Parts: sequence; structure tokens; C-alpha cells
Amino acid sequence: MAATILDGNKVREEMLAELEKRIKEKGLKPRLATVLVGKNAGSITYIAMKAKAASRIGVATEAYELPETTGEEELLKLVAKLNRKKDIHGILVQFPLPKGLSQQKVTEAISPAKDVDGLHPINLGKLVSGDESMPACTPYGIITLLERSGVQFAGKRAVVVGRSVSVGKPLAALLLNRDATVTVCHSKTKDLGEITKQADILCVAIGKPKAITADMVKPGAVVVDVGINRVEGKIVGDVDVAVKEVAGAMTPVPGGVGPMTIATLMRSTVAACERSTQSS
Ligand code: NDP
Repeated sequence: MAATILDGNKVREEMLAELEKRIKEKGLKPRLATVLVGKNAGSITYIAMKAKAASRIGVATEAYELPETTGEEELLKLVAKLNRKKDIHGILVQFPLPKGLSQQKVTEAISPAKDVDGLHPINLGKLVSGDESMPACTPYGIITLLERSGVQFAGKRAVVVGRSVSVGKPLAALLLNRDATVTVCHSKTKDLGEITKQADILCVAIGKPKAITADMVKPGAVVVDVGINRVEGKIVGDVDVAVKEVAGAMTPVPGGVGPMTIATLMRSTVAACERSTQSS
């Protein structure tokens, strides 16, 4: 039997409708600053998608577009200015940055209270210690999709393939926070298929098309495909589509994890706005 499709577009719509309602009912005025440096085509698309979701639900956006030649000092100055602006609740600097600009320095310069991407070391540390108030967007979007689809975590064997700071590592921590037994694999892992085959919940974030094939998946497993790869003009994930004949449930690419990342960004912006209203 083919796997149940875990529809990220549908859950995103539910989340955006809930957020819109929350903004209206509480009279919130959430405002998100987006910063784009250079003209990376993917980044332009991502920022446009985020701005569209924001405007739909009543999150105002303030777009900053800087030239490719922008120096680090200038970018850090802009971040410092946005940190001080009281009407800005979230700051999103779109990555990747042009060569010569340190993503780490920029991430660390953003005020943790406005770090809606959830990648500041303070927010990552909080997440590891069980405080998920400003979570890394893609991993938290995955967890939300699974939770809203009725997936149980406690006692389950979860395998995360990929250990990036933005996806694999925080995802492993979120699964651990929910009492899953978690294994993290990476490019040096030996006998990957032997490990992935044990997973009740298999999450793949490596950036390689067809890296996970049907013989590497336990029948009935929940499979989350984070990958975004362009192959012959089409977007595909890291998991071979034939896996859907073995898995019990699976996220599609596109339409699975991607929409959840954006919905989580909106959720974090609204939550940051609520917190700033409560503290002022
Ligand atoms: P990174 O390149 O930062 O990390 C990739 C990870 O995969 C590394 O830990 C690497 O191991 C591991 N890896 C690479 N090849 C293999 C292999 N053959 N077997 C096992 N592990 C391997 O990528 P990201 O985490 O940023 O992104 C991963 C994918 O997810 C990309 O396709 C990206 O586009 C997509 N993505 C999608 C998002 C969405 O919203 N849908 C958001 C973010 C990312 P090592 O550490 O040893 O090098």
C-alpha cells in the first residue's frame, strides 16, 4: 500500500489561518524585517514567498536589499539598527550570503529575541535544554507537521540523516525532547542503510537526490524528506520516490517540509511580537 502523504501545504494553511486569527483577536502589529544581500535567484524567491505569507496574515514586512558588494561591517550595522527598532519583532537575513560575509557572525549579531530563524547560539542552546520558544524553523516545522498528522514520538526509533546546525542537529534535539530514541548519521557514517532501516521515523536532510532508496527503509516507517535538489529543471528531494511504496507516511517534495518552514517563521514572528508587547 502506498504511503500516506504528509501534506505540508495543508498544515501550513491551517497554521496561517490560526495566526491570522490570533493577530486580529489580540490586535497585534507584528513586523518582520527581511534582509537580502546580492541577487541569488533562490534567495529572491524565498524572500518573496515569506513576504507573501506575511502579508496574507497581517504581518508587516520591511525589506532591505543590499548590493552584492556590501561589506560585513555595513551588514552588521544594519542588523544592529534593526535590533534597536522597537517596532521590528523579527529579523530574517536570507542565507546564503555572498562570499566574504560570515553567516555565523551575522547570526550571532541578531538579537536572540528577534532571531525568528532560531539559529542564534542562545536559541539553539535553549532548544537543546527543552525551551522551544524560538526554535530553528525547518526542524520545528517538521515536528509540527508530524505532530499535527498524529505521529507519536515517545519510545520510537528516530534516525536523522544530516547534521547541519540549521536542520539535522536541532531536529535531533527536538525529537529527543519528545522522548524518541535518536541516531544522527552523516557523510562518514558506515552502513547507512543498516541504520536507516531501523527507523520508525526517518528524517533525511543531506542535499543529494535519491540518497535514500526503498531498500534502506523499514516498512511502515514515517519518512521526512527535507532535501531540495534541482534535477533537470525539477525540484526533487533526497529520498527516492519509490520509497512511498514501503513507507507508512511520507512528505512530498515539493509541498512537504518547505511550506512548514515558512509557517514556522510566521509563528515565531507573531510569538516574538506577543512577547515584546507583554514585556513593554
Ligand atoms: P548541509 O549541506 O549543511 O548538510 C548536509 C549534511 O548531510 C551534512 O551533515 C553531511 O555530512 C550530510 N551528508 C552529505 N552527504 C551524505 C551522505 N551521502 N550520507 C549521509 N550524510 C550525508 O545541508 P542542510 O542541512 O542545510 O540542507 C540539507 C538539504 O535540505 C538541502 O537539500 C537543502 O536544500 C534542504 N533544506 C530544505 C529546507 C526546507 O525548508 N525544505 C530548509 C533547509 C534545507 P557531514 O556533516 O559529514 O558533511
